[in-house]
Amino acid sequence: MTVTAAVPGHLHVVSAATEEVLATLPEAGPAEVDAAVGAARAAFDDPAGWSTWSAAERGVVLARLAERLAARGDDLVHAVSTQNGMPVAIGAGSEGVVGPRMLGYYASVIAAQPVEEERQRPGGGTTVVRRGPIGVVAVIVPWNFPLSLAFFKLAPALHAGCTIVWKPSPETVLDARIVTEEMAAAGLPDGVVNLVLGGRETGMALVQHPGVDKVAFTGSTAAGRAIGEACGRLLRPVSLELGGKSAAVVLEDADLPAHAADVFAASLLNSGQTCYLSTRVLAPRSRYEEVVEFYAGLARSLRIGDPLDPATQIGPVATAAQRARVEGFIAGALADGSRLVAGGGRPDIDRGWYVEPTVFADVDPRSTLAREEVFGPVLAITPYDDEDHAVALANDSAYGLAGSIWTEDVDRGLAVARRIRTGALGINGFRLDVASPFGGLKDSGLGYELGPEGLATFQELRSIYTALR
Ligand code: NAD
Repeated sequence: MTVTAAVPGHLHVVSAATEEVLATLPEAGPAEVDAAVGAARAAFDDPAGWSTWSAAERGVVLARLAERLAARGDDLVHAVSTQNGMPVAIGAGSEGVVGPRMLGYYASVIAAQPVEEERQRPGGGTTVVRRGPIGVVAVIVPWNFPLSLAFFKLAPALHAGCTIVWKPSPETVLDARIVTEEMAAAGLPDGVVNLVLGGRETGMALVQHPGVDKVAFTGSTAAGRAIGEACGRLLRPVSLELGGKSAAVVLEDADLPAHAADVFAASLLNSGQTCYLSTRVLAPRSRYEEVVEFYAGLARSLRIGDPLDPATQIGPVATAAQRARVEGFIAGALADGSRLVAGGGRPDIDRGWYVEPTVFADVDPRSTLAREEVFGPVLAITPYDDEDHAVALANDSAYGLAGSIWTEDVDRGLAVARRIRTGALGINGFRLDVASPFGGLKDSGLGYELGPEGLATFQELRSIYTALR
């Protein structure tokens, strides 16, 4: 392992695959956070500035930005993969294309939305309802899909007319620097997007800064609680996209081999470091061993290796600390009596923070592995007796982010889906839809991203009673 002499006030960006230091960059302290928020505030309050432009005027600059980002797609994928170990095959469909996709989608949503609408009052008279940008937004995101999670916020916030202070995770900052270079080149006015680099303390300084009007956060439930508490005291609007422990409900008629690529994407994508993964597999007793064998076979079949190789399906996990945490869950599951049916160790690769894709069967639904988010390539399989039992197990979680149902009868899948209290469910796969709201219930968060709902969180509404009777 590379030993890094810590430079005070600096963060070290380390490659998950090679353990080499890729960059050492100054960390933003309170003065830099203050300067960044000050710049965003000044840009927002400028009487002829970004927030006062029409949506069409902002759209011209954002379309140019989308084009520039599309041209840098390969660089962005490479930057993300070299830092966090995301296989490039996964980055090519997400980090490399998300900026243009989100900017394009929200261009169409905002174009269809009037800034003001006149409503008839029930007793007679009219009211003008005016929609405007919410102000200066703090965008704080994790390292797992650093650009997707940033653009879920940046795209609607920019189209709405907000200005932004963006704090990526300290593990993944090189991609964000490429994006801000392209923002400047596309002609985004100074101060509209400001990047601050740093960890938890920098994030908390930003969350609590008096110049911030809204906080848009994605990350762990623990950090989300701390941020939510701070925002509660400040009465500051906040959206929280947090952790998950989602269930895959395998119904008796499921044909898992027919959907093997989707099972992989829904349960192990990005080496298990995706918030919405179905990591608790609920299998019918009538087909239990067959389901266990399928998942074990899938895990064993995956190609583990260099994230920059397009054939790689599983790369390293993002940090040494993350690997230690994942291995802690594996040791705990073994101690709890779960049956290891695939993986459990490290692959034979001499450097990088790799963990074998791991599957446990006979997992007690009360055990730590069944209840806590691992955020690594570890699946837990639990048997169920009948559909009611499966639904009860799926709902028996502190989280409510996502999930999946596997069946050859879509109507039956829909009927089961309606009984599961979770933010998003996929039938025979799980693929986010940019045009529909995505948000966690219970400990998985507050508020929604994507869809028109994801734009509304960056807007404020004012009512002007124009003709009173
Ligand atoms: P994390 O919560 O440790 O960090 C996320 C970001 O918040 C980082 O930028 C970090 O520097 C910052 N941060 C941490 N503590 C903070 C605090 N107290 N105040 C202000 N900022 C703080 O999460 P992580 O380990 O980087 O990411 C993994 C987590 O993110 C997992 O729990 C995963 O489920 C979750 N996640 C959720 C979604 C979703 O859409 N619901 C998507 C992806 C990841």
